Amino acid sequence: MPAFKFKGVDFIEFDALLSDDERLVRDTARRFIEENLVPIIEQCNRDGRFPRELIKPMADLGFFGANLKGYGCAGMGNVEYGLVMQELERGDSGVRSFVSVQSALVMYPIYAYGSDEQKETWLPALAKGEKIGCFGLTEPDFGSNPGGMRTRAKKAGNEYVLTGEKMWITSGSIADIAVVWAKSEADNDRIRGFLVETNRPGFKADDVHGKWSLRASVTSGLSLQEVRIPLENMLPKADGLKGPLGCLNQARFGIGWGALGAAMSCYDTALQYAKLRKQFRDQPIASHQLVQQKLAWMISEITKGQLLALQVGRLKDAGKAGHQHISMIKQNNVWMALECARMARDILGGNGIADDYPVMRHMMNLESVKTYEGTHDIHALIIGESVTGISAF
Ligand SMILES: Cc1cc2nc3c(=O)[nH]c(=O)nc-3n(C[C@H](O)[C@H](O)[C@H](O)COP(=O)(O)OP(=O)(O)OC[C@H]3O[C@@H](n4cnc5c(N)ncnc54)[C@H](O)[C@@H]3O)c2cc1C
Repeated sequence: MPAFKFKGVDFIEFDALLSDDERLVRDTARRFIEENLVPIIEQCNRDGRFPRELIKPMADLGFFGANLKGYGCAGMGNVEYGLVMQELERGDSGVRSFVSVQSALVMYPIYAYGSDEQKETWLPALAKGEKIGCFGLTEPDFGSNPGGMRTRAKKAGNEYVLTGEKMWITSGSIADIAVVWAKSEADNDRIRGFLVETNRPGFKADDVHGKWSLRASVTSGLSLQEVRIPLENMLPKADGLKGPLGCLNQARFGIGWGALGAAMSCYDTALQYAKLRKQFRDQPIASHQLVQQKLAWMISEITKGQLLALQVGRLKDAGKAGHQHISMIKQNNVWMALECARMARDILGGNGIADDYPVMRHMMNLESVKTYEGTHDIHALIIGESVTGISAF
């Protein structure tokens, strides 16, 4: 069990900016995480185990495809969805990553770019957690620049034949369905999305071992050797790189909220610890000015991050969130959360490196979160392009 019970973080009556429904969703997710994830997560992290037993209860709470409408999805607003991500990542970034991939990177492309038949076949089963999905964009040689990908789809009669390698794929080896992005020779090598059932001959997923980050999440490499799928498995409405980038926009929005949760966990732990731990003249370390400076930095940055996330969520509900706004919450909030984790680790002294407390786990997890879904620096370039009109890629 954790050393401290989470007390919640709200410095400027942020809750007053939320609707009753939004608070209810947040509180329900918070209770779920407290009761089901917090008690087991340190052991899962030690064991490098994704807690599969939470898939069904998370589905029952409507966490998968939460902001999609119909097909058994919860139809939440974007702020409600963001608050769920916040609470999930307060538990663990790896578990939040699972939900992000299932929702934003697998259900969303089927919802936004799929045929009616693809939606009917996959969305209800994915929402119920009966089927698991993964998203294959990154390749061993193409990460920040996915447009260079080598995976190819060739048309052969009434089938596509896919060949290529994907790397760093969350949930890869536990997925039933992979959304694979490949250059289609029949479309002048334009990037198209394909639904690949993972039990098809020629498909293989091998887990990445030795990770020091996102240990409670499955990360795999995918190998596709002449995998044959019917023509109707191509996503008809995704054409070009904007297809996968549209999915990443959905996921990055959730990450921007999720990072707030990790930051809150670290801040709350550091605050409670600092009030109890005594050094010099039998005084709590919270009474020392340099410790207070760190705590003040953390709560200020968390509060600014909350306001940024809320405004981008409101814009998204109004259909006005641009990819540059989403880059800003992803870049800022993940950076801020990683700084909070490092400061919290410092405040906990030697205890900061042990898993009696969640901060070192959050810190290690956030190193991945800073890199995936567009690295910190790539988001700087996206924001830079937006304000200057000049691409620096
Ligand atoms: C745990 C984990 C899970 C992941 N899950 C998935 C998944 O489910 N599906 C998926 O498709 N991918 C996934 N990824 C891959 C992830 O999105 C990539 O790692 C990420 O896009 C960065 O690519 P890269 O690792 O190849 O780094 P690179 O692109 O090689 O970047 C290395 C460094 O170079 C910098 N750089 C690159 N280009 C520029 C430039 N033009 N200007 C300045 N700096 C630059 C980067 O900012 C970075 O600092 C995951 C990654 C991890 C670690």
